[in-house]
Amino acid sequence: MNNTLHAFTAEPMIAYFSMEIGVKNDIPTYSGGLGILAGDTIKSAADLNLPMVAVTLITRKGYFTQELDNSGWQHEKPVVWDPATHMTLLKETVKVQIEGRDVHIQAWLYQVISPTGGRVPMLFLDTDVPENTPEDRCITDYLYGGDSAYRIKQEVVLGMGGVRMLHALEFHIKKYHMNEGHASFLALELLLRFKRDIETVWDERSVWDVGRVRDLCVFTTHTPVEAGHDKFSYPLVSKVLGEIIPFDVLKDLAGKDNLNMTMLALNLSKYINGVAKKHGEVSQHMFPGYHIHAITNGVHTFTWTCSEMAKLFDKYIPGWANEPELFVRSGNIPELELWEAHREAKRKLLAYVSNTTGVEMDPNVLTLGFARRATAYKRPHLLFSDIERLLKINEKGRIQIIYAGKAHPHDDNGKRLIQGIYGYRDKLKGKIAIAFLPGYNMDIALKLVSGVDIWLNTPLRPLEASGTSGMKAAHNGVVNFSVLDGWWIEGHIEGFTGWSIGAKPTETSEPGASDAEDVADLYDKLENLIIPKYYNPNKSNWSRMMKNAISKNAYYFNSHRMMRRYVTEAYIR
Ligand SMILES: *Cc1c(COP(=O)(O)O)cnc(C)c1O
Repeated sequence: MNNTLHAFTAEPMIAYFSMEIGVKNDIPTYSGGLGILAGDTIKSAADLNLPMVAVTLITRKGYFTQELDNSGWQHEKPVVWDPATHMTLLKETVKVQIEGRDVHIQAWLYQVISPTGGRVPMLFLDTDVPENTPEDRCITDYLYGGDSAYRIKQEVVLGMGGVRMLHALEFHIKKYHMNEGHASFLALELLLRFKRDIETVWDERSVWDVGRVRDLCVFTTHTPVEAGHDKFSYPLVSKVLGEIIPFDVLKDLAGKDNLNMTMLALNLSKYINGVAKKHGEVSQHMFPGYHIHAITNGVHTFTWTCSEMAKLFDKYIPGWANEPELFVRSGNIPELELWEAHREAKRKLLAYVSNTTGVEMDPNVLTLGFARRATAYKRPHLLFSDIERLLKINEKGRIQIIYAGKAHPHDDNGKRLIQGIYGYRDKLKGKIAIAFLPGYNMDIALKLVSGVDIWLNTPLRPLEASGTSGMKAAHNGVVNFSVLDGWWIEGHIEGFTGWSIGAKPTETSEPGASDAEDVADLYDKLENLIIPKYYNPNKSNWSRMMKNAISKNAYYFNSHRMMRRYVTEAYIR
């Protein structure tokens, strides 16, 4: 028995599995929204004293460090970090079989400790041990790197290795939560573990106790984008894993043509959910025959509130961090003080922009922020669809724009989008200040979501499952201006918590016509509603809207509320 873990192995736990977890900025084991959400989940679990243990990979070389050359082209460098400065190595090791070899796995322990006294241990699995072949030692190096053979090996380590590690450490697990399909080999491992004795069953197939596995598993699907669902060819599966369970049984569970990790999770989980109401519906259409619930995402309130706002909340809404429902009392915050706190966050952001990019921005100018993975469906270029029009709007009331975001290393189209923003920056120089902050990470995200005036989001419907950066903005009184997709369908009250862009989700817009429709609405509202309100000499109009973002959006779209729902709807059933 491991002494450090003794406190956790005494009671039954929820095991939360995620390929990536972003718990703090200096532990670079995340790429974006999925990982940050996982980190926020764990932090809320700790605050709420939930019995949870998290399992992920160590990703020794991280996702990547983003460097942008003068033309705006992205270059990737491995992240250099040392797990030993943050975590302790546990002495227990486990093995999985990959391509017929034993692959040894060790685990690093990190504990998220809440001011409430709650703790969540996190296990970071690592194959960089001397007993492994040089190739196997690299399995846990890169997040989302390599080919599909590399990926399936990572997922075997995460899912099967993770269950074995929990067992070796004597955890008693009452639910396994798969955060996205990457982790679904954990269900396969459970199937192997609960295999019935052939003597006790009627036919060969019933040695596989699917019902018992399903009772233990919860699955959250995170994207309607097809490429987000891992699929592996059966020849590859056979090469890497061998026939650990008969292929006809596996194909029934994971798909006829490919091993589809999402199908595997769907078939082996009793509770399945999407991450916003709309995403639940979209997923229900994608996966008919399964009952898909919806639990709308939230963000960790304390993590995503900047220090200026935190000070203000401490003064007027004491207890807010562990009870975000108290934001209902935001009305008590004096408007002038709210505006001043925001001004201070904005000054800090603009200083950072100046230092890192050399772009000088004016604190009195309406500032728009846009940061997310650089990929086509997020449409980062939408704002620039009609430069003439944008320049005219800029004459009515000046604007400036700050961008950030990484493209996946293999996504040249995504990289071209970043380069495109550099192009607009140069073209509009002297008229509209535009900056692109390199190396988007948790620290930059907090600066951005708290320091801009408007948080812009323009995804192509219905591809944004939830989106979370807009919730972070709302925690800082930053108003959302966004396409009605994901969480914003639920959070948006037109002209009150922010503004929508384009058609309502219930209206069907012509495919292809949506860009033009959205851009017209974006320009109209920017020109006729947002700019006049922002530049109105009476700042209390704007401050009132900031309060609404806090009292109506931050109040609800936080991970404390989200976790209470996971507990009552998914974990204790
Ligand atoms: C919040 C966050 C994201 C996810 O933002 P979305 O709006 O969900 O796309 C990605 N990267 C970082 C660094 C973040 O902090």
